[in-house]
Amino acid sequence: MVEAVALEKRYKVGKADLWALDSINMTLKRGKTLALVGESGCGKSTLARLFSLLERPTGGKILFEGRDLGKLPRGELSRFRRAVQMIFQDPYSSLNPRMRVGEIIGEPLDIHKLASGRARSERIEELLTLVGLPEDAARRYPREFSGGQRQRISIARALAVEPEVIIADEPLSALDVSVQAQIITLLKKLQEERGLTYLFISHDLRVVEYLADEVAVMYLGELVEEASGAELFDEPLHPYTRALIASSAKPDPGEPRGDGGVKGEAPSPLTRPKGCFFHPRCPKAFDTCYHVRPEPLTLAGGRMVRCHLYSQG
Ligand code: SF4
Repeated sequence: MVEAVALEKRYKVGKADLWALDSINMTLKRGKTLALVGESGCGKSTLARLFSLLERPTGGKILFEGRDLGKLPRGELSRFRRAVQMIFQDPYSSLNPRMRVGEIIGEPLDIHKLASGRARSERIEELLTLVGLPEDAARRYPREFSGGQRQRISIARALAVEPEVIIADEPLSALDVSVQAQIITLLKKLQEERGLTYLFISHDLRVVEYLADEVAVMYLGELVEEASGAELFDEPLHPYTRALIASSAKPDPGEPRGDGGVKGEAPSPLTRPKGCFFHPRCPKAFDTCYHVRPEPLTLAGGRMVRCHLYSQG
């Protein structure tokens, strides 16, 4: 339904290239959840911005129902803008504090000219009920709600235009654990009822294990592994995926944990290591890894891994 083909995003920093995304191939399948995981700064949010047309790629393309977004006429781009909606990380800053909740949820209806007058008010009430908020919420301001309720408002706003795809960029990370569980339940219910497709961006593997049909693991702007959720958690192949899963399963309260908890710092995307980008942190690195960048390898069953350990004989 939405597909990235050899997608690339590079920024010029002085004379150097900052590679935010490099040769990304990824498919969002209708009615399914693809989770994108990796440490902060690895390029996850850049990908979300490209998918939601907030930025343009410097290479490759995004296909929507098989057609290149970069070549779509204006009218059809607006269909894409309606079909693909975002939910942001921080419900505190993503809602305009000066607008009442009814206006916030009604705004996309106005932009896409979908309802006016009484039909508009009824639609807003319906959306509030759908996400578990009282109808009188429409007359109140975002500051009158808790973090979880504000994320429900964001979800109602995203659903107003009846999208097919929701891109959720760390939608739970600003919320308490108990509230996270409620929002996850809501997202699952909405997916079942409406056949929604999710791109769920997260560094929290416990949430991803519960939600995702497919998981893509990103490291320094490239995908290093992609598999079904069951395969990935039963048998992670890439050393980076293994480190992510191990650190999320056994958090050591005595040790400060970074985002994702893998030992050492990720190198800067301005100075990517030669060979495999992960080699400075990889416990399995061997000679080839220092010189040759691994290509993505498709294994039996269709899962992908980018690591020399699997390309030998
Ligand atoms: Fe580690 Fe080498 Fe695989 Fe890179 S290619 S993840 S350094 S074993």
